[in-house]
Amino acid sequence: AFDVLVVGGGPAGAAAAVYAARKGIRTGVAAERFGGQVLDTMAIENLISVEHTEGPKLAAALEANVRANDVDVMNLQRAEALVPPAKPGELVEVKLANGASLFSRSVILSTGARWRQMGVPGEDQYRNKGVAYCPHCDGPLFKGKRVAVIGGGNSGVEAAIDLAGIVAHVTLVEYDVKLRADEVLQRKLRSLPNVEVVLNAQTTEVLGDGRRVTGLAMRDRASDEVRQLELEGVFVQIGLLPNTEWLKGSVELSPRGEIVVDAHGRTSVPGVFAAGDATTVPYKQIVIAMGAGATASLAAFDYLIRHSAP
Ligand code: FAD
Repeated sequence: AFDVLVVGGGPAGAAAAVYAARKGIRTGVAAERFGGQVLDTMAIENLISVEHTEGPKLAAALEANVRANDVDVMNLQRAEALVPPAKPGELVEVKLANGASLFSRSVILSTGARWRQMGVPGEDQYRNKGVAYCPHCDGPLFKGKRVAVIGGGNSGVEAAIDLAGIVAHVTLVEYDVKLRADEVLQRKLRSLPNVEVVLNAQTTEVLGDGRRVTGLAMRDRASDEVRQLELEGVFVQIGLLPNTEWLKGSVELSPRGEIVVDAHGRTSVPGVFAAGDATTVPYKQIVIAMGAGATASLAAFDYLIRHSAP
């Protein structure tokens, strides 16, 4: 059995594994795809002290950092269920999709999240070529350009307000007949001169020239009329889905499916900790996930020294 088993190999999981291994305890990482969301990212310019890197390069660096320590890395392993310990200090079981089970005295859940996609033609083709999901990450790349934000919930309206300060023009596209964001955000949005809000509109296609995004096609749901916007960027803000479906019933989740953690990364299950985008931590970013991974790992170590046989 492991002392610390990390499930998930993104920035949070990598940080957790490095911190655990450096305590000289038996550490393992099981990950479906080591590197996580970072693998799908192009330019990264807000990982403090690293002026510029690229996703695949950072993912390789995370893995090298983990492997330089004494960590059992199990890549391409999908966890399907977690069985809590019979009592604090006893083993936690993680069942894998391949039928095997891993046992550990503590577990750190860092299975991350995924952006909900629109599922329209052009979205996949132009991902990182104008189609973006993270305004904090990619907003500055669109300085002085025209963008659309898809989604009129809090994250969409916040993104539109944020981007309006950087880009030339923002069109906020909402499927429903009204925005769902908090009133205070809507008021702020309406006060901005370079934002247009389009309601009751269904995005039908992301348009491009083969290299980059050049526009967006949408259908007015009342008139069926199709309108095309010329623009350089599309920010999709229709939801971030935590990869926690497999934890339902074993660990407490928030109404949005995020693993509920306290300031130490403790979950509702003794010996089970969590970090990163899969949790209730506010703001989903690499540097935040790394810090949370370190926190959860130190909390797991703290738990182990309190629950080890004398
Ligand atoms: P993830 O990176 O999502 O990693 C989750 C890990 O868990 C993966 O290894 C995954 O395979 C694994 N996993 C999932 N389910 C299971 C399972 N059931 N069993 C086993 N393993 C599982 N942030 C920034 O700070 N700066 C940026 O510039 C930036 N750009 C971004 C661009 C894009 C296109 C995207 C999608 C995100 C971007 N982000 C950026 C956000 C950042 O990538 C995330 O905040 C960060 O990766 C979260 O780390 P994590 O370790 O919590 O989860």
